[in-house]
Amino acid sequence: MNGRLAVIGLGPGPLDLLTAEARAAVEQADALFGYGPYVDRLPVRDGQARHVSDNRAELSRAQAALMAAEAGACVAVVSGGDPGVFAMAAAVCEAVEHGPESWLNIAVTVHPGITAMLALAARIGAPLGHDFCAISLSDNLKPWPLVERRLRAAAEAGFVMALYNPISRARPWQLGAAFDLLRGVLAAETVVVFGRAVAREDERIDITTLGAADPARADMATCILIGSAETRIVQRGALSPLVYTPRSAPA
Ligand code: SAH
Repeated sequence: MNGRLAVIGLGPGPLDLLTAEARAAVEQADALFGYGPYVDRLPVRDGQARHVSDNRAELSRAQAALMAAEAGACVAVVSGGDPGVFAMAAAVCEAVEHGPESWLNIAVTVHPGITAMLALAARIGAPLGHDFCAISLSDNLKPWPLVERRLRAAAEAGFVMALYNPISRARPWQLGAAFDLLRGVLAAETVVVFGRAVAREDERIDITTLGAADPARADMATCILIGSAETRIVQRGALSPLVYTPRSAPA
């Protein structure tokens, strides 16, 4: 009964952005648990079972993985990006806290991955070079007024923001409402970057302003950066622009 559970971040897309540690943890696993598109990115290995579930079934997936680990398997739960950013690591911790006492003895390791906002930031320069925060716009797991309160507070405090889960078929209006709220606090020239499918074949990056930001440019695979008053764009002739936030803020 020496089962263990590894929660593994796969990075934003291609496996060359997977850390060597995470790759080794995937290879060692007897069973993989995860959302279908993430599990599908991994090469098939003989004898490795695959348990694919819907991306909303996080807690039940964590529980199923813990049960398999308790039965003696070496289990991997995989997430896109980093597993601790709006993903499976917290679901596993929650399942352990509220589960049977025996689950407290299962060895759990978390293997970090490159989260979407870092992959996007690296593509365009250094927009997260000063203080920043990450906010999920999904109101599936928290009430919308709380999202609004956090957006307003972050904008007033001068944070650059990375918005995750900006829009989906079930949540069509939230991103537009977020832009409207932010336009009431930040200047229309504030830099906004849409990063869709960053580091994947169909990547698309749009650099625009808050005044011109169109929610229709985003989908479920988009991470959006909202600059601070200090965030700048350096135009470079034939080369794509550099977007950065200086290391120092004005007094
Ligand atoms: N754990 C993931 C985030 C899961 S929440 C991570 O660390 O990246 C899902 C949201 O992540 C998406 O709605 C989108 O906002 C963002 N996202 C994930 N992969 C992305 C990618 N390759 N490009 C842009 N955004 C991405």
